[in-house]
Amino acid sequence: MKKVLLIICFVAFNIAGHTQNSLIFNWRGYNGDLINRNDSVWAVVTTWRDGAIGAYSIVLDDFGVISFNKSVKPAWDLSKEAGFEKIKLSWGIVTKQMNDENWNNAVIMVSQGHEMVNHAMTHTDATLWNEKDLKYNINDANDLINKRVYEIIHSSGEYFAKGKRCEFFVYPYDSFNKSTHEYLNKSGFVGARGGERAIVMKANFPDPFRINFDAHYISNRDWTPDSKSKRWPNMHIGLNEAIDKIIEAKGYMIRELHSVPDIPDNAWFDEDNNYENWPINNANKGMGGTWGGLTKNQLRVHFEYLKKKIESKELAIYTLSEAVKYSFTVRAFENEAVLTASGQNWIIKLNKKPDVCVEDKYKEEISVIVDLGVAVEQLSVAYDRNHLNTNEDNSPRIKPRRMDDSGRIWSISINPFKSADHTALLIRDGKWFGQDIKINNL
Ligand SMILES: [Zn+2]
Repeated sequence: MKKVLLIICFVAFNIAGHTQNSLIFNWRGYNGDLINRNDSVWAVVTTWRDGAIGAYSIVLDDFGVISFNKSVKPAWDLSKEAGFEKIKLSWGIVTKQMNDENWNNAVIMVSQGHEMVNHAMTHTDATLWNEKDLKYNINDANDLINKRVYEIIHSSGEYFAKGKRCEFFVYPYDSFNKSTHEYLNKSGFVGARGGERAIVMKANFPDPFRINFDAHYISNRDWTPDSKSKRWPNMHIGLNEAIDKIIEAKGYMIRELHSVPDIPDNAWFDEDNNYENWPINNANKGMGGTWGGLTKNQLRVHFEYLKKKIESKELAIYTLSEAVKYSFTVRAFENEAVLTASGQNWIIKLNKKPDVCVEDKYKEEISVIVDLGVAVEQLSVAYDRNHLNTNEDNSPRIKPRRMDDSGRIWSISINPFKSADHTALLIRDGKWFGQDIKINNL
């Protein structure tokens, strides 16, 4: 029997870490599903974090190429405004163009839960790269991002696993092919923005290197977050419209943005009828706009919509590698998990699907929503089932989140691969220790 399983696993690796069986799974979430469950004392692995209905990522390209203060910082500043705490962004770095100030800011941004991803060493077309170019733009660029960002961070608290490295690729010009995807997979990446335009993917998307996306571009003066570009044909779907479609499909998609300049509402376009010359889209106007720009105020309108959808438990925001890892870990487990009382505490056990293998690079914390049957004030989690072991590595990074007013229903974050039998101890009224953010000296 063991031999058969090994063979299946081997096949699974060759098609990007999944088997056909792993593609069969049912959406499970909080609203419209678990909130109305009648029985008590249960545990369910949810399709998206904290039982959200759908999932979304925002990536901002060309970090390094565009002005940090005029085009990058306004988006970063916006993410720090009150109410936007759960909106974490990804930035695509053009490695060769980065200066020391950019690198140092990137370290701080990652320590706040944003992710730096690889946008190549030079901003060139990946389908034209030879072997030497591939190594330079993919592997060498990654080494540099790791050296200047990830290796400096010992722990980014609840945000990323210790030892995280750069592991996601966003292609310059969104130009890619099968062999560039394969090169990334071979190089240890977990995924890439290399799929279809503006089509929401089902949560069990098969290929993590073919993640769907839509690039944003403003070409009309009466822009709203619901409008698509009227005159520039490659933007297919409005900012907020994409969110509605994600929730409707219970799926996932990436939004691609570029510079986010802080240009006043009446100054991002001008009398020039050619939208490519507007300050929002043209670096030569000196206001921080570049190809596909979006002002800070315009992005804020989108953020307000995201905030509403997060609060109503309809949407989870992930950074790029997080979404892929979450999905690939979840699909290896049955939805129904087992919650058993153990003294005054509980043991949670996730049921692994025997025929689904998960490559180490995809193993991550996922959400399990539990109904404890009784209300508790707080919860903590011990992987080794010893409630006295308060070592920070003995608990998940992400703190249990209360889902209802009574304190009976919680969303537990757990990496089920941390224990051999996919179990952990939930400690009644246990004090949460968590991990501190630790950065080596810049
Ligand atoms: Zn770019």
